[in-house]
Amino acid sequence: MMIQDIAPKHLDNHYDPAARPASGDAALHFLGKQLLCRTENGVLRFPTVAELGEGDYTYLFRIDGTAFFLRRDASELTAPGYAYQSIMLFRTARPQENAFAAVTAFHLASWYAEARFCGKCGAETVHDTAERMMKCPKCGHMIFPKIMPSVIVAVTEGDKLLLTKYANRPDTNRFALVAGFTEIGETAEETVAREVMEEVGLRVKNIRYYKSQPWGISAGGLLLGYWCEVDGTDEIHLDRMELAEGAWVSRDELRRVYEDRGVSLTNEMVMEFIRGNNEADC
Ligand SMILES: [Zn+2]
Repeated sequence: MMIQDIAPKHLDNHYDPAARPASGDAALHFLGKQLLCRTENGVLRFPTVAELGEGDYTYLFRIDGTAFFLRRDASELTAPGYAYQSIMLFRTARPQENAFAAVTAFHLASWYAEARFCGKCGAETVHDTAERMMKCPKCGHMIFPKIMPSVIVAVTEGDKLLLTKYANRPDTNRFALVAGFTEIGETAEETVAREVMEEVGLRVKNIRYYKSQPWGISAGGLLLGYWCEVDGTDEIHLDRMELAEGAWVSRDELRRVYEDRGVSLTNEMVMEFIRGNNEADC
């Protein structure tokens, strides 16, 4: 189950200009990458509007009956029983709709923080009265939420999958697939081919789209998953600036060593490869 797979619950992202915070609604506040919340036995809870108290609230979204509001204060807030915790808790927190709410709210909070001033004339922006958009009252410039497409690439050769392990990350045991942001003037398929060439020096063919995933944790990412196969030599040439390790790993070995790591598209694609499902849609 990927982070966004919360059915039968549903995240309604439609901006509702008439929404006003009610005492029982969820109230989210971020300090950098920290979220004011509480976890009890892995269950994530947010303060209510009543618990966080009066202030300036911005409507975010609804999940079924619950409305979520954001406090955009720059300084620390207090709510009895709640503390600031790393937003990375979303990877393991339950229920999954709360984890998805936290990471989606983080994406919006990051964008609201960046959109405070007009990039054209420097005036302070105001929220539009009809849709989710920050507007400049002086020059009329419109700023919409930032969503940045990037690719996750599962390169295969027969029963082998190309795994990369990023350098300079706290968890050095983390398996990863080739990944990177789409650049201006590029199709997503071109991003796939370029990133694989840059990271491991391989040509690829038969590039096939798999699924996408909102990934608000990385500056508003939208991850596009692709399968492809190596074209020609499978000899890896590592980009030493970026990667510590890159390797072909067999399906049998993955079955033994890979743990199902939950909510990411990368994890789902590795698990699909292990089950042999990457061949089915060729
Ligand atoms: Zn302006």
